[in-house]
Amino acid sequence: MPALVKEKVRDIPDFPKPGIIFKDISTVIKDPEAFKHVIDFFVDKLKDKQVDYIAGIESRGFLFAGPIAYNLGAGVIIIRKPGKLPAETVSVTYDLEYGTDTIEIHKDAIEEGKRVVIMDDLLATGGTASAACKLVEKVGGKIVAIGFMIDLTFLNGKSKLPEDVEVITMVEY
Ligand code: AMP
Repeated sequence: MPALVKEKVRDIPDFPKPGIIFKDISTVIKDPEAFKHVIDFFVDKLKDKQVDYIAGIESRGFLFAGPIAYNLGAGVIIIRKPGKLPAETVSVTYDLEYGTDTIEIHKDAIEEGKRVVIMDDLLATGGTASAACKLVEKVGGKIVAIGFMIDLTFLNGKSKLPEDVEVITMVEY
């Protein structure tokens, strides 16, 4: 069903800045059938991996992390932008085209050796997901897979991700 989902992704040219074609997934998740296809796709791919936690990356990663975790009988971990998490945090800063960005996780979010899947809506350059991998490993998690609804394959984001971890994507451009 990836084709049905792809049909629902809306392209917004020049957002948030000129030259970027923003892949708007709000038109996927508001459609009950398409949203179900996305969640079922990842649940099926992950069901035999003994997943303890799905770690969602703020903010669109949360939309997928919750229902996938619920269906797998796993928990949800939140990876957020700086200053949002209330307890003690660990952070990773990574390079953007211009400048840097930082993401954080609670220091005690993951018990040593727990099996974690990182989830976001879209893989572009891979900077965000690569930083998320570092965060999860820093706090003791074992990454068993990384999932994205969309992969902008022409940006080759996969090359930034750990080689030994399975990357699961549903819709490719
Ligand atoms: P990156 O770190 O370059 O892989 O960027 C991934 C993050 O930025 C994800 O959390 C996406 O939600 C967002 N993002 C990057 N490029 C786009 C795009 N063209 N359309 C929608 N979201 C994007």
